[in-house]
Amino acid sequence: MPAVNNVLVVGGGLAGSATAIHLAARGIAVDLIDVMPDVAVLGSGITLQGNALRELHRLGVWERVREEGYSFDSVGLRAPDGTLLVEMPDARTGGPDLPAAMGMPRPALARILLERAGEAGAEVRFGLAVTALECDPAGVDVSFSDGSTGRYDLVVGADGIRSTVRRLIGVETGIRATGMGIWRAFGPRPASVTRTDLCYGGPCYIAGYCPTGEDSLYAYLVEDARNRGALSAGERLETMRELASAYHGPWDEIRAALDDPERIHYTWFETHVLPPPWHRGRVVLVGDAVHSCPPTLAQGGAQALEDAAVLTELLDKHDRVDEQLWTAFTDRRHARANAVVEASNQLGQWLLDREQGDVPGLMRRIAELVSQPA
Ligand SMILES: Cc1cc2nc3c(=O)[nH]c(=O)nc-3n(C[C@H](O)[C@H](O)[C@H](O)COP(=O)(O)OP(=O)(O)OC[C@H]3O[C@@H](n4cnc5c(N)ncnc54)[C@H](O)[C@@H]3O)c2cc1C
Repeated sequence: MPAVNNVLVVGGGLAGSATAIHLAARGIAVDLIDVMPDVAVLGSGITLQGNALRELHRLGVWERVREEGYSFDSVGLRAPDGTLLVEMPDARTGGPDLPAAMGMPRPALARILLERAGEAGAEVRFGLAVTALECDPAGVDVSFSDGSTGRYDLVVGADGIRSTVRRLIGVETGIRATGMGIWRAFGPRPASVTRTDLCYGGPCYIAGYCPTGEDSLYAYLVEDARNRGALSAGERLETMRELASAYHGPWDEIRAALDDPERIHYTWFETHVLPPPWHRGRVVLVGDAVHSCPPTLAQGGAQALEDAAVLTELLDKHDRVDEQLWTAFTDRRHARANAVVEASNQLGQWLLDREQGDVPGLMRRIAELVSQPA
């Protein structure tokens, strides 16, 4: 008997939709809510590493993801003038049957996961938030933003780095900016872009791109965190074009297609890891709500999916919600997620400090770690 019969999952990102799929597929009644009005507004592009692809396979969506995304098995290093310095095979951390990495448009990935959650039996609702949680030993009473209420055996807070659920259960976490900001643009894929290429020279710490489909890619430029919030749409576009003008090769075509400010986003890198426990009573937190890292290793999504897999496996194996279950959960997840966050931060810090650092050694260590199923 699973430890729970009905569950509220708050947040329809990777952690929340994966949690909902795993639970609903085991016959547990699941309500999944997201504060956003619909799936189309959920971001631009994402790089999924092999261990994320392994989780997507377990969720039963691999075929659909493969059809809509763009997979590759190597990473290139380029000089600012576009010269390809080296092409390195990327570790297949999801196993030999899956590619090393894949780019996807985020809305497509979200749609696939949420459709699968619905097919598995989860009730998915958008435009809805939680306003209050009352926990007792047997369950949780929940108030929603539309005035309705519900009672659940368990609430899963998968509502991201600024988690409302975390606040409602009184958990404090130390989110800090790492000192870097990232410009990202979603656009058409030039034929020359068939994998991620990175450039570590020029005016930016990192200039990179990732193909996300036959016709699409996202490109990014990482700089010192600056106060860019007051820029108008036109100024955002101009700033990204200006920074991109130092990069050539495929960047020439990428820059030429940078013409829509709506497709350009700027944000700071932030990080935190919540020490165990990750629950209070019958409310538990997963994904970015408990750990988040800058995307220097592109592991945030994978870690969110792994949280969901481990939590739901334990809820299935244990016949009650108790401290043993919660200890088993953080024993399996905290050290691994923490290692990924620390390594991601370290990569950024070496760049900020202009220090060489043992990048290959760090990458190898993390690849070995995440190659082991969570
Ligand atoms: C600039 C940037 C680039 C990144 N690139 C990559 C990458 O290439 N690869 C990778 O693996 N990771 C990447 N990451 C990290 C990755 O995006 C996250 O780790 C991952 O999305 C975490 O998933 P999540 O489901 O925990 O949270 P989120 O994706 O943040 O999802 C949370 C969901 O909760 C909803 N929500 C929020 N508040 C409420 C509320 N009060 N009530 C209901 N719903 C709510 C939100 O609408 C959202 O849908 C990147 C992060 C950043 C900042």
